[in-house]
Amino acid sequence: MIIVMKAEATKQDVADVEKRIIDFGYTAKVLSGQVRTVIAALGDARDKARLQALESLHHVESVMPILKPYKLCSKEVKPEPTIIDVKGVKIGGNEIVVMAGPCSVESEEQLMQTATAVKASGAHMLRGGAFKPRTSPYSFQGMEEEGLKLLRHVSDATGLPFITEVMNPREVDLVHEYADILQIGARNTQNFSLLKEVGKMDKPILLKRGLATTIEEWLMSAEYIFSEGNHNVILCERGIRTFEKATRNTMDISAAPVLKELTHLPVVMDPSHGVGYWQYVNAMSKASVAAGADGLIIEVHWKPEEAFSDGPQSLKPHKFDALMKELRPVAQAVGRTI
Ligand code: PEP
Ligand code: MN
Repeated sequence: MIIVMKAEATKQDVADVEKRIIDFGYTAKVLSGQVRTVIAALGDARDKARLQALESLHHVESVMPILKPYKLCSKEVKPEPTIIDVKGVKIGGNEIVVMAGPCSVESEEQLMQTATAVKASGAHMLRGGAFKPRTSPYSFQGMEEEGLKLLRHVSDATGLPFITEVMNPREVDLVHEYADILQIGARNTQNFSLLKEVGKMDKPILLKRGLATTIEEWLMSAEYIFSEGNHNVILCERGIRTFEKATRNTMDISAAPVLKELTHLPVVMDPSHGVGYWQYVNAMSKASVAAGADGLIIEVHWKPEEAFSDGPQSLKPHKFDALMKELRPVAQAVGRTI
């Protein structure tokens, strides 16, 4: 159930309702909006008549059931969009946020060159993998902590906050020490122990859609992170498995408007993994912005032909620069800036 507080309710009023919910045996999660606060009461629905009675309190506006299986992530609980602030970069606001960089961190020179180039083109954040989820155990597995150190160094030198993947619950503390956003990759979307672990962290989490995850399952994964207390979740569409072989994955552009209808969380699109070929990244980036995405995450490599991973889908810096210029009028056409 959701308990919607009146706009004039004080902190004390909220604390009073929260206590009553807990006394009834429910878990109370307070979500403070710009205008009003709502409290989600999570637990056994059989006893909901007691919660319904809270409606008679003078500082409570209404008490309603939450119909969706994902509760805290749903727009029913929080109609206004969530804006996540990463060192001054606001994800989910009017400005489209672009995260760019190599698939894998390979060397200081590679990372610094790429970061400097994407920053000059207008990127807001740096991406780069230090722990890589590779299909083959014989492929490059990432530079691990050395890669995290390079990311921190290049991020500090360029002023671009950075995002990197964490693959394993055992490495969450280590990645958390360095990263500005922790990425949960497509192969871990339903790794519930990893989701619970990052749910305990105080840094934003970018949760990718799994290769075969429905939107509802994906939102349930976001709910896992929320339920542990971390409400800074960004959803990232990166393509799903279909019968189509012309592209590496089938990028579900419709995920952007669908998610905007269902959840208050920011939506980022990853056209690089979405299609798998650099030739299509430009068109899919523009389509994502037109469809209502709040951001893009794009693989850029200074020498894609020498990349340790995902070279075929990586843009050269000058192609990324051209893309950023072409994105501006698209963003403007849908009332956004970039
Ligand atoms: C990546 O971002 O390089 C990556 C491995 O992404 P995904 O989990 O979407 O495959
Ligand atoms: Mn990649």
